[in-house]
Amino acid sequence: NQNKRIIIVSNRLPVKLTWKDGAITYQTSEGGLATGLSTIYKQNQNLWIGWPGSAVAEEDQSKVKTDLALQNLSPIFLTQQEINDFYEGFSNETLWPLFHYFPTYASYHPEQWEVYQSVNKKFAEAVLKIATKDDIIWVHDYQLMLVPQMVRHELPEVNIGFFNHIPFPSYEIFRLLPWRKELLCGVLGADVIGFQTYDDVRHFISAANRLAGINGSVNELNVKDRVVSVDAFPISIDYKKYRQLAEQSMTRRNEKKLHKLTNNNKLIISIDRLDYSKGIIHRLEAFSLMLERYPELRGKIVYIQLVVPSRDNVPKYKEIKEEMNRMVSEINGRFGMLGWQPIQHFYRSFSPTLLSALYRAADVALVTPMRDGMNLVSKEYVASKTDQKGVLVLSEMAGASRELSEAVMVNPNDIWNFCETIYQALNMPEDEQKRRMTAMQQTVSRFDINNWVTNFIDKLAEVKLRQMSLA
Ligand code: UDP
Repeated sequence: NQNKRIIIVSNRLPVKLTWKDGAITYQTSEGGLATGLSTIYKQNQNLWIGWPGSAVAEEDQSKVKTDLALQNLSPIFLTQQEINDFYEGFSNETLWPLFHYFPTYASYHPEQWEVYQSVNKKFAEAVLKIATKDDIIWVHDYQLMLVPQMVRHELPEVNIGFFNHIPFPSYEIFRLLPWRKELLCGVLGADVIGFQTYDDVRHFISAANRLAGINGSVNELNVKDRVVSVDAFPISIDYKKYRQLAEQSMTRRNEKKLHKLTNNNKLIISIDRLDYSKGIIHRLEAFSLMLERYPELRGKIVYIQLVVPSRDNVPKYKEIKEEMNRMVSEINGRFGMLGWQPIQHFYRSFSPTLLSALYRAADVALVTPMRDGMNLVSKEYVASKTDQKGVLVLSEMAGASRELSEAVMVNPNDIWNFCETIYQALNMPEDEQKRRMTAMQQTVSRFDINNWVTNFIDKLAEVKLRQMSLA
């Protein structure tokens, strides 16, 4: 496998194109996927195909192509119409809510489905322009579910992987989609289909059985004459990087400042992108209930809530933002005292050192999504706790809960229990904190992002061999 060329395909490239003083600039993404895959796409003839993050005028496209080619990146240009219908529309307002178990938030527009298909075709054609049957093609996520089959159709022997970063829902939810069979068959063009958890795997296999009559064993499907492997590959973080960041003197200084600025109160934190799947409202309710039930906590704890702006031109996100703001001001108005405010709310992003300081400083981290494919914040918190103190309160509905079994689990819908759990987390004895944190650190350091990449690529080779042995 080592000599094969690897072509990564994802909606977004690991750079974001922006304009500064009339000139085009490229901002490198610090995201986990970009870091994890950087060891791959930068090597040899390898390549990453994707959208650079904004619309580019036709006259600028060839320059952008040349610039990015130097970094082994190949841009796909999307028109504003395509961005609206394929990305914000079908991807973010149909697939995203449905796959996160918010079926009532999903809309079904045939004209957006048309654009989803044509944009997937655009990506597939870009792959086919350069790929040969000897390459490895690794397609990422729900925006590109049709690409594996489109490529397979033209290159029947090529080795294709597909990884779904978000949850794959139960068949009863997936079947609601008018285009469920097309999407399923699109993905089945791959040789390895990866998900975050075994539950996602089960749901996909069940959908393949019921929608396409495809049979197989626990981790294998027989798609016509091809064996397809379906497996769980829980994504992770660069453990060492987070650990080192947490140990830097700058981070420690920031941590001290944070304690000072919050009057050495006990600290609760939460960090999410603005999204209804993250359970921001339920968490505020549980926090408010706790202040009501345990008045002795007033003046003694501070909740730092960091919300990173996201998709705020989608109406549902605007709504959740307004509801969140209303609740934060209500809680602060109701419980606050002169010199003390229960919630410090930030709607922006933090620098990596500040983020790391926040993780270090937090006595309790609330990671309580209604549904999440994995959730990397939970793993980053664990990696940053160099003294093993601190409590992770984790939702059962986060993919990470399968691995981080020593976290304190909650069902965010169970509001009374949620409130009691935060209270207990604030009062957990230090030796128990350390025991749980040490166990979680072992898990996260063993299964880090590099491990994830290697496992997936190895699986691709393994399936090819198995297909040849069965031929
Ligand atoms: N994050 C960031 N800037 C911030 C706050 C968070 O870049 O100000 C990062 C955070 O470190 C994490 C990512 O955003 O790596 C969120 O990933 P997660 O899997 O938790 O959720 P997603 O946003 O992918 O649904």
